[in-house]
Amino acid sequence: MEWFTPYLDVMLTKKELIRYSRQIAYPGLEEDGQQRLKASHVVVAGLGGLGCLAATYLACAGVGRITVVDCDSVELSNLNRQMLHWEDDVGEPKPQSVAEKLKKINSTVKVVPVFEKITENNARGIIKKAQVVIDATDNFETRFILNAACVAEKIPLVHGGVHSFLGELTTIIPGETPCLACVFPDTAKKQNHFPVFGVNPALVATLQVTETIKLIAGFGTLLKGRMLYINAETMEFKFFNLSKRVNCPVCGQVNAKA
Ligand SMILES: [Zn+2]
Repeated sequence: MEWFTPYLDVMLTKKELIRYSRQIAYPGLEEDGQQRLKASHVVVAGLGGLGCLAATYLACAGVGRITVVDCDSVELSNLNRQMLHWEDDVGEPKPQSVAEKLKKINSTVKVVPVFEKITENNARGIIKKAQVVIDATDNFETRFILNAACVAEKIPLVHGGVHSFLGELTTIIPGETPCLACVFPDTAKKQNHFPVFGVNPALVATLQVTETIKLIAGFGTLLKGRMLYINAETMEFKFFNLSKRVNCPVCGQVNAKA
């Protein structure tokens, strides 16, 4: 990951040194890594089961700027898994609901709510200059738009998906790994109201934030070019290697230049 320079100017306050002391104590992170987290901008696309958990742990970890994007309002049927939306929030725009809770979880974090549908026209503008984008969406139409925007802006995309007790995860680094369009057919469609338990997106989202923290701080092994498939019903975790698609319409040119 090409690192950005301003983080060296971002100092940690005495309170932050105490607040994050248990993670700063980790040799892979230390104060330098915490400074990077504070200087970072992460976009959470989708504020359902995945996005609520991802945003929570990004705020807890001290990521300095979190953009939270969704075009939906909270519904009663969301509450079994979307833990930042509470009973009083039904009918509220999801980005506002999430922003209110994140400010209470960590008042030092800047949260930017975006109540918009992600489209080909606005995607690059929303993610511009972010260090990482978390794909917490629930449909392939939006995923493909995000994927193309991340490849164009050269921003890592941590993809997560869930269905019933199944989950999947991979980390896409433009110019280095296969992209989503290499992996999934462009005929993949949205499936409305599919079954899902709250614990399953929680599991995948915490792994997405784990990848994000490692990406920003620069330690550990990333899930690059590999897909993790989780079956929580049978407790099977499997890894598959991913390949770049020849002449991928999205990343083909980027990969050719890399
Ligand atoms: Zn591709």
